[in-house]
Amino acid sequence: MRRLLLAALFFALGAAAPATAQLPIFDAHVHYSRPDWDVYSADRALAILSTAGVRRAIVSSTPDDGTLKLYERAPKTIVPFLRPYRTRDDMGNWHNDPGVRSYVEERLKRGIYRGIGEFHLSESGVGGSTLKRFAGLAADRDLFLQAHVDDVTIEKLLTLYPKTRFLWAHAGMSASASAVGGLLERFPKLWVELALRTDVAPGGTLDPKWRAVFVKYPDRFMVGTDTWVTSRWEAMQGYHRDVQTWLGQLPRDVAEAIAWKNGERLFPSP
Ligand SMILES: [Zn+2]
Repeated sequence: MRRLLLAALFFALGAAAPATAQLPIFDAHVHYSRPDWDVYSADRALAILSTAGVRRAIVSSTPDDGTLKLYERAPKTIVPFLRPYRTRDDMGNWHNDPGVRSYVEERLKRGIYRGIGEFHLSESGVGGSTLKRFAGLAADRDLFLQAHVDDVTIEKLLTLYPKTRFLWAHAGMSASASAVGGLLERFPKLWVELALRTDVAPGGTLDPKWRAVFVKYPDRFMVGTDTWVTSRWEAMQGYHRDVQTWLGQLPRDVAEAIAWKNGERLFPSP
């Protein structure tokens, strides 16, 4: 009898203990660019993703060959996005550059890409001829455009290209939770990833304003690391540990959606 009681007690304690299981992660913002190649082989980079709990990842790279190196090794893990930068020199004027346009059109023939980006752009560039072409291609082929832009620029893009789906990198980096919520309300073709947004959970505690937006739009957010410099690969495991901490403060269904289910739904495995 006593043994039974003890067993029941242990069971109750076990059931009441906080969930320690880590959620699988769909990481919506990874790069494997030229400086990374010598430091981390493709296999090592894939092992880092796996150790950090990343089940699948959107990868874009400068140059795009980096993405292919990972994709060829792990086509089920890597969701390839085509970055329009042949070298970092393309960052400034890609949106008007006919050379970038033909480069991207040529590479899209591979048929593996699920999006174009991540790209950078300021407000004045939204009407650029190359960007306009990409927005049309994306709408026709059901690709996303992953845009690292501020809130004014994403609003202009969504208004100018209403048929195109946008993945907003870093939630605009500095846009407030309420500004992000307002844009999600107005634009059904907007999705948001939260790479580098440590303000979501300062000191590990989920900010109430972000929490409100996540609960209201659970299907529109994803997490991301952004390996924009090689040292970010080193930081990935700790970064995702912190992400798991604030995900754990959300209702389970919301946390699962943001952690990986949204990514799986938007980019089903080939
Ligand atoms: Zn990035």
